[in-house]
Amino acid sequence: MSLPQWKVTRSTNPTPDVERERIIEKPVFGANLTDHQVVCVWEKEKGWVSAEVIPYGPIMMDPSSAVLHYGQEIFEGIKAYRHQDGSIWTFRPEENAKRLQRSAHRMALPELPTELFIESLRQLIAVDGAWVPAPVDEKTLYFRPFEIAAENFLGVRAAQRAEYRVIASPVGPYFTGGLKPVSIWIALDSARAGKHGTGEAKTGGNYAASLLAQGEGYENGCSQVMFLDAETATYIEELGGMNLFFVYRDGHVVTPSLDGTILRGITRDSVVTLIKDRGLKVEERKISLDEVRAGIQSGEIAEVFACGTAAVITPVGEFKSREETLSISTEPGELTTSLREELTGIQYGKVADRHSWMVKLAD
Ligand SMILES: *Cc1c(COP(=O)(O)O)cnc(C)c1O
Repeated sequence: MSLPQWKVTRSTNPTPDVERERIIEKPVFGANLTDHQVVCVWEKEKGWVSAEVIPYGPIMMDPSSAVLHYGQEIFEGIKAYRHQDGSIWTFRPEENAKRLQRSAHRMALPELPTELFIESLRQLIAVDGAWVPAPVDEKTLYFRPFEIAAENFLGVRAAQRAEYRVIASPVGPYFTGGLKPVSIWIALDSARAGKHGTGEAKTGGNYAASLLAQGEGYENGCSQVMFLDAETATYIEELGGMNLFFVYRDGHVVTPSLDGTILRGITRDSVVTLIKDRGLKVEERKISLDEVRAGIQSGEIAEVFACGTAAVITPVGEFKSREETLSISTEPGELTTSLREELTGIQYGKVADRHSWMVKLAD
């Protein structure tokens, strides 16, 4: 099927330069959006019929629009990095495109071709490139591509009209307070995803399902929640929006295996590769809360970290639940810190990109 031709309509009222410079100097995650957005429309009989860049603004939506009722929605998170020479790059976009397709398949939405996905980022950067911050203090432009069922119909079936959009927000470090290890709340009364459910799809509903436990976590001084397997509440799965790694004292690393309920993090996959590159062993397997408790108490588990595009690699200082506190460390671990430096180094063009992960979006 042929892809639609791009049409670009520039904003007649863009953010003044001084104001934009002020925003990207100290960006707050998700608080400010750039001047434009991408909109691609899909219709059941015709496929992807249009691809446009338009001024940023609200979506006019009929109250009967399917997404508002049945949650047919998927999204991605991917960043644009400015390199020292001013050029703008992104990290492994084919992987995000493929994941968006898998999420679409699971949620009965149309699959956006990889080419259109990557071109949508290029098109947005072509008009909003000035929003990509200078490469200091981990500042980037965060893209939020998403797809929604956009048919005005209350009947329950897969929508016959869908929209893919991309918005973008300049961001600084996800967790304020530097590389300080975070506290994680263990959800004992709620699960995020069940067998054959939607855990592997990047869909809003998984996040909605995590927010009650997250609120409980906040009340207990934790910034994130860790979910256990829904069936037996025995094995560790992941955080609400990040994957987990456990570093053992002897140097080997364990991360929960992808069995359908865990999101296939691209950072997770990259970290597995970087650890193997160092000649260390990575085990992708089930890991129980009991094993983690015993490992932390004996000192066998030396470091724990979480990872995802938004927060890169973040050290975990402790796990807490209403029953216990498991303290790991108040300082970021050695491997955690060096993996973080290596990964951000690759992303900002300061460390050799051995695996050809970086893709240029603009000169
Ligand atoms: C997006 C996401 C991640 C991290 O994936 P990355 O591709 O590394 O950004 C992990 N877990 C969940 C539930 C997510 O939604």
